[in-house]
Amino acid sequence: MTRKQRNERMITAPVAVHDIVTADVVGLAHEGEGVGRVKGFTLFIPGALPGERVRARVSEVKKQFGRADLLTVEQASPDRAAPPCPIYEACGGCQLQHMRYDAQLVWKRKMVVDALERIGKLQVASSAESGGQGVAVHDVIGMDEPWRYRNKAQVPIGFDVEEGGLVGGFYAIGSHRIIDMDACLIQHERNDSAVRRVKEIARELGIEAYDEKSHTGLLRHVVVKTSFSTGEVMLVLVTTERGIPKQNELVRRIVESVPETVSIMQNVNEERTRAVFGRETETLWGRDVIFDSIGGIRFAISARSFYQVNPKQTEVLYRTALDYAALTGEETVIDAYCGIGTISLFLAQRARHVYGVELVRDAVEDARANAALNGIENADFTVGRAEAVIPAWRAEGIAADVIVVDPPRKGCDAALLDTLFAMQPKRIVYVSCNPSTLARDLRILEDGGFRTVEVQPVDMFPHTVHVECVIGMQRINT
Ligand code: SAH
Repeated sequence: MTRKQRNERMITAPVAVHDIVTADVVGLAHEGEGVGRVKGFTLFIPGALPGERVRARVSEVKKQFGRADLLTVEQASPDRAAPPCPIYEACGGCQLQHMRYDAQLVWKRKMVVDALERIGKLQVASSAESGGQGVAVHDVIGMDEPWRYRNKAQVPIGFDVEEGGLVGGFYAIGSHRIIDMDACLIQHERNDSAVRRVKEIARELGIEAYDEKSHTGLLRHVVVKTSFSTGEVMLVLVTTERGIPKQNELVRRIVESVPETVSIMQNVNEERTRAVFGRETETLWGRDVIFDSIGGIRFAISARSFYQVNPKQTEVLYRTALDYAALTGEETVIDAYCGIGTISLFLAQRARHVYGVELVRDAVEDARANAALNGIENADFTVGRAEAVIPAWRAEGIAADVIVVDPPRKGCDAALLDTLFAMQPKRIVYVSCNPSTLARDLRILEDGGFRTVEVQPVDMFPHTVHVECVIGMQRINT
């Protein structure tokens, strides 16, 4: 389309803000919004599903597309479900509760296939199980019980005159207004009840809630972590300053009313920032870690350490990674982006040696502690950038048979991909939380002499738009 045509199109956009329109929904966009069409014009409509006809009010019109709020569904999709959560629409933490869970899984696989074909220019086999030409993309592994799966909650605390004081819950969609919440259906029940109790106790003791606008008050966030395997609970109170009035009574009452508590921590965040945590963390009561185990390996989780939030599916993810690594016990393995060593320790059980590298020093310390906790002696961890550390290892004569990468959303650094070509492992296992950057990286790896064999999507975050994938790759000419 020429610029002139585009401009004409802009002028002739067939809808205007506040119009009430009837739209046919033809797809689902990345953020889970329905893609509606009105006289050839695209409107993103949250809450609408493909195949539906809906009434919606236009809220925004741009050159190429607009947005609209769903009013009524005139013709419903068979995939439509009644969202069980009463605050689903106000919250925005989940985007797909209005879609049946089996349909969510089908859509997630399609997102992955689309990215691999469109961005990665990969040929995807028509049926994952047929063994035909192309990359096998398996069905998404979902959860039997896709609710109450999260082990961690970070709850912002605020003050609300109408609610009569301290509230804690979630930021209303697109704003920083805190809405009080008593239950989150994707959160473990222990977390919900612990937060409820802490709020009650804080109200009774007159503890001041933080006010973001005036930057006054004390309690900013309540963070709660629970271990699915041991039942232990850690509470982290994030405050603007160190002194907490009636601290002893607060601690005593939390311990009494949340019997699973083994750790109460305080983190001080005095900055005007939207980041949850500040630099200082102290123990107010009990231990400074809780213990969890995944697939027979124990992990100590501290207030700040990164840990997967869906422990049940994490085990599925790591087992798939282990499977694709196809270890016999003889291999040298590198785990780039190793975090607190979760994947490394999983692999160490079946490898000769595992080398993990990770940017964040605290995470590496956790990884070493976790290795010791499990009596694992064939895993070493190094702080640094994977793209710098791996070449240094290579210079020392370390050659990996298998390299595992589990990068952040932006994918692998180009320099890291170069080091993979230099190292020439037999296999690469790529764990990805972002199909787009994954597809980009797979194209580069394919062009560099690796073949994508299979892709296993795993649903770590039911009812949200996220999907995690494990990819098995092989060096050509091994
Ligand atoms: N594999 C781990 C963590 C994956 S999250 C697990 O499953 O728990 C990605 C990790 O990569 C984060 O811990 C982040 O700190 C780290 N990271 C980001 N950029 C990096 C880089 N250039 N080199 C090494 N680690 C990096």
